[in-house]
Amino acid sequence: MTPLTEITSQPKKIVIIGGGITGLSTAYYLQKEKRINGIPLSITLIEAGEKLGGKITTEKVDGFTIEGGPDCFLRQKPWASELAEELGIGEELIGTNDDQRKTYVLVNGKLTPLPDGVMLIIPTKIMPFAFSPLISLSGKIRMGMDLFIPPFKGADDESVGDFIRRRLGEEALYKIAEPLMSGIHVSDPEKQSLLATFPRFRNIEQKHGSLIKGMLTQKKAANHQPLNPSKLNSLFISLKNGVEELINGLEHSLNECQIYTNTLATSILPAADRMYTVELNNGESIGADVVVLAIPAYNAAKLLGSFHPKLANQLGKIPYVSTATISMAFRKQDIQKPFTGFGFVVPSTENRDISACTWSSIKFNHRAPEDYLLLRCFVGGPGKEEMVDLTDDELFRLAHKELNLILGLSADPVLTRVYRWKKANPQYEVGHLDRVKEMFSACAYETPGIYLTGSAYEGVGIPDCINQGKKTAGQLLQYIQQEQVYA
Ligand SMILES: Cc1cc2nc3c(=O)[nH]c(=O)nc-3n(C[C@H](O)[C@H](O)[C@H](O)COP(=O)(O)OP(=O)(O)OC[C@H]3O[C@@H](n4cnc5c(N)ncnc54)[C@H](O)[C@@H]3O)c2cc1C
Repeated sequence: MTPLTEITSQPKKIVIIGGGITGLSTAYYLQKEKRINGIPLSITLIEAGEKLGGKITTEKVDGFTIEGGPDCFLRQKPWASELAEELGIGEELIGTNDDQRKTYVLVNGKLTPLPDGVMLIIPTKIMPFAFSPLISLSGKIRMGMDLFIPPFKGADDESVGDFIRRRLGEEALYKIAEPLMSGIHVSDPEKQSLLATFPRFRNIEQKHGSLIKGMLTQKKAANHQPLNPSKLNSLFISLKNGVEELINGLEHSLNECQIYTNTLATSILPAADRMYTVELNNGESIGADVVVLAIPAYNAAKLLGSFHPKLANQLGKIPYVSTATISMAFRKQDIQKPFTGFGFVVPSTENRDISACTWSSIKFNHRAPEDYLLLRCFVGGPGKEEMVDLTDDELFRLAHKELNLILGLSADPVLTRVYRWKKANPQYEVGHLDRVKEMFSACAYETPGIYLTGSAYEGVGIPDCINQGKKTAGQLLQYIQQEQVYA
C-alpha cells in the first residue's frame, strides 16, 4: 500500500473523545506515528473533566500518596510498563513489597490467611493448603477433584461462577474466587463472562485438563527462569508517585495534540465527504475524518443516539456498577496490633459493608511517611450500590466501624479521603465478547471512521486500556490509508 505521506499532505483530522488512559494512549501512539513516519495528522482530544486521567487519580498530601482509583497494574500484561519506559519514567516503576506479601480472607468474622502457594485462585503447594483453616476438609477434597473432572467441551462462554463451581466447587467460589477476582472486575460471578474476564482459566483447563495441573506446570516453567535483578518481578506494579505519574507523563509528551479539558462532547453527526461533526458544550463544533470514543459505553450511546440508534441501544446495554474507596491514615503508635500483609478481602457471604481493605503503605513503599500507616477500604459494587450515595462522613464512619470490628482498630485516623466511582465499572456479562464483536463490526461497516475503545470493551485493567489505545491508533491509521487510496 502507498505510504500515507506520499498520497496526502492535508492532515487528517482525528478527534479523540475521553482523556482517560485509553484516550491518552490512543493520542500518544498516533503522535508517535506522526513523528516517526511523518504522517500528517491533526489530533484533538476532548475531556469533560477538569483534569486528564479519568479513573486514574492520585492525591499527594502531607507526605501521603493516596490513590483514588487504581493503585497498580498487572506486570504480566506488559503494555503499561512499556509505555512508562517510552515516556522516560521507567525508573519510577515499583513492585510490591513481596517480603510482606500475604492476603487475608474474612471468614466468620476472622481474618484467615490465604495459604501460601495459591496462584490466582488455584492451590499449587500441597502442605500449606492442606493445613489451611480457610477451606473445610470437604471443600479441599472437592477442590482436589479438579484433577479428575474432564475439561469443558466446546468454545461457549460461561459465567465465572459456573466455571469455578464446576472445577473447584462452591466453597472455593465463595471463599477464594469471588472475593479475589472481584478486586478488579467488581462483578457478580454468576453473571461475569469467563471468556471476557479470565480466558486464561479456560485455556489452562483445555490445555492441561485441570487447573491445578496447569498451574503447577506453569509454576515449574517459571521457576526455571532466573529472576532478572534489574527488572521488577512482582505480580503487581505501580509508580513511586502513584499511578497518575503515567497520566502526567502522557500529558507532558502530547505536545503535538490539541487538548481541551472541561469540555463535553455532546453529539456526533455525519457530515459531507465521509466526515463527522463533533459538537461540544462550549458551542464549538469540530470536523473530523475519524472520531475515537474512549468513554464509558453509556456516554458513547448518547453521542451516537441520533444517527445510529441501533448501535447506541447496544452500547447502552453494557451494565455498569458504582463503588467508593475510603482511604485512612493512622499513626503507627495508635495501632495496637501490628499489621502484616497487603490487606484482606471479604466474601459476600460475610454480609459486611466493606468488600476489601488494602494496607496501601505495606503493599507499596512511598505511600506514607515512616511513622504512619495508610489503609484503603472498598464499598459498593453489585447489590450494594446505594452505599456510594452515603455522605463522606457516613462512609468514613461505616468503614471505621468495620475496621474496628475486624481488626480491633479503634484509633482515629489523622487523615481520610473518600472517592466515589459512579457507574465506573463496566460489567462483562456472559456473551460480552460476541456483543463487542457485533458493535465493532457495526462501526466498521455502518459508521466507518468511528472507533469504540477502552474499558467497556476489551479489558478493564490499565495495561488492557493502553493496549486498546495502541490498537485503535493502528486501526485508524490503516483506515485513513485505505480511504486515501480508494478516494
Ligand atoms: C476504584 C477503581 C479501582 C481500580 N483499580 C484498578 C487497578 O488497581 N488496576 C487496574 O489495572 N485497573 C483498575 N481499575 C480499572 C481502570 O482504572 C479503568 O478501567 C481505566 O482507568 C479506564 O480507563 P478509560 O480511559 O477506558 O476510561 P475512563 O478512565 O473512564 O476515561 C474516560 C474519560 O472520558 C471522559 N468523558 C466521558 N464522556 C465524555 C464526553 N461526552 N466528552 C468528553 N469527555 C468525556 C471522562 O470524563 C473520563 O475522563 C480500577 C477502577 C476503579 C473505578
